Amino acid sequence: MAEQRHFEGGAIVVASHNAGKVREFVELLAPLGAEARSAAELGLAEPAETGKTFRANAEIKAGAAARASGLAALADDSGLQASALGGEPGIYSARWAGRRRDFGRAMERLEREIGDDEDRRARFVCALALAWPDGHCETFEGVVQGSLVWPPRGENGFGYDPVFVPRGGDLTFAEMEPAEKDAISHRAVAFRQLIAACFTDG
Ligand code: IMP
Repeated sequence: MAEQRHFEGGAIVVASHNAGKVREFVELLAPLGAEARSAAELGLAEPAETGKTFRANAEIKAGAAARASGLAALADDSGLQASALGGEPGIYSARWAGRRRDFGRAMERLEREIGDDEDRRARFVCALALAWPDGHCETFEGVVQGSLVWPPRGENGFGYDPVFVPRGGDLTFAEMEPAEKDAISHRAVAFRQLIAACFTDG
């Protein structure tokens, strides 16, 4: 495998305009010797997510922020893939909730489109990209397998959490304590790979 590029310290742009994601990234970066700056703080524009895959969209977002700021930049793209729907909503997970980000509506659509199909398998995917101003990019993908349940259950989390039960458990992501979800989530899996490849020695 090609040599992976290491983050050598200094500032890193968190290329997201989602306040929740920015907070999560900043907390994860703090112990790694990286000084996190948000895209909003630097006045960076949000590029259009024109990619056809999670990986492509994460790389578009991280690459645009790195070029515009002259700093290393980190971005993710994530979503839910239902087996019965051939992987939909996938990269359109946020867009299914409409302009108002109404995930009640998005979960109803999921239930309606799956209908009587007995295949309730689903997975959450997260692509995490770290880009440098010279165009180099390291990208990692985390996946958590599970199944869909109706009606939605639980008050924690966000997005599709109330209808997703990770494999091997009974609780939905929204019924779990946040720390419990964060330990096994697709984002955590991708982050662990990024840290091992780009932030730790040896
Ligand atoms: P992004 O901000 O473009 O990556 O959109 C990700 C979308 O996927 C979110 O708005 C959610 O709908 C969905 N999603 C991603 N990760 C999760 C998760 O951990 N729980 C629930 N929904 C998620």
